[in-house]
Amino acid sequence: MKKGLILGVTFAAALALVAGPALSEDIQVVRPDDDAAIAELDPGVIAFEEAPTHIFLTREESEKAIARQALARRTANMTYHGGKIMQSSTTKAIFWGTSWNTNAGDKITGMDSWYAGFGGSAYAGTNTEYSGTNGFVGTGSTYQGYVIDPTAASGGGNTGAILAEVCKVITNPDPLGNGYYAVYTDVPRGNAGYCAWHSAGSCSGVPVQFAFFWKLDGDPGCDPGDTSGLHSQGLAAIANVSGHELAEAMTDPANPGAWYDSSGAENGDKCAWTFGGPLVTFSNGSRWKIQGEWSNKAFTAGTGYPNSSGQRGCIGGL
Ligand SMILES: [Zn+2]
Repeated sequence: MKKGLILGVTFAAALALVAGPALSEDIQVVRPDDDAAIAELDPGVIAFEEAPTHIFLTREESEKAIARQALARRTANMTYHGGKIMQSSTTKAIFWGTSWNTNAGDKITGMDSWYAGFGGSAYAGTNTEYSGTNGFVGTGSTYQGYVIDPTAASGGGNTGAILAEVCKVITNPDPLGNGYYAVYTDVPRGNAGYCAWHSAGSCSGVPVQFAFFWKLDGDPGCDPGDTSGLHSQGLAAIANVSGHELAEAMTDPANPGAWYDSSGAENGDKCAWTFGGPLVTFSNGSRWKIQGEWSNKAFTAGTGYPNSSGQRGCIGGL
């Protein structure tokens, strides 16, 4: 979701709800003000672009937003907004929190397999019809492994805190700017109206993509309902939202933006909580229940599967 464009709800407004009520339609449009937080953390080392932070709404809030967009009778397809895309990605997973060394369950090993298998997968191919000033989105992805930071994690309410964590842990971000750093915390979502988000910034002048994830164990609002028995529920949940965030980072990574629709929804948002089949198979053979992504081509051709508003523009990358 693009900040300030959908529902009149901004990231900052959503953040204010971390300990508050569910999202509502009458939230005022305000700009996030993370500058103070950044300055406290490490001025001169990290910096935000003027890039929006894109939140991934819970199932309930997402369905409301997509239904509202459909009612507005706007064109369903996404349009190009002049920016760059990610031709490839160099990924690293950061497990931040005091419990990861002792209570990770299958989540670290599982996400390790997830990122190792994403590159070259048919699922990664759901993004490749989109291009920007620097070419087309590709399926190439180099996984650099994971790191555990056992200090206490913040929640998702402060984008600057997550960027600071990325810059602390990733001492040499990909110099080409293709680095995508996924921060998995052990903090439960509580009443926040979103499951995860992605944003952009820089560490010592090097552009980075990064994403934030709540701990989603036992969280029905962010649960894809994976009944395969291959993964714990908590792993299945972060695996699903990880697909959404990486797809959006690839197709709409920075400011100016690249691909999103008239209501600000990116390719993951438009197909949130809908699935092209029971499981997708990654290039390393690992299998996951992950939502599909929006395809302008499939919608135009009428060949996609329907999103939660019945618009047939989703492709699953099975
Ligand atoms: Zn999203």
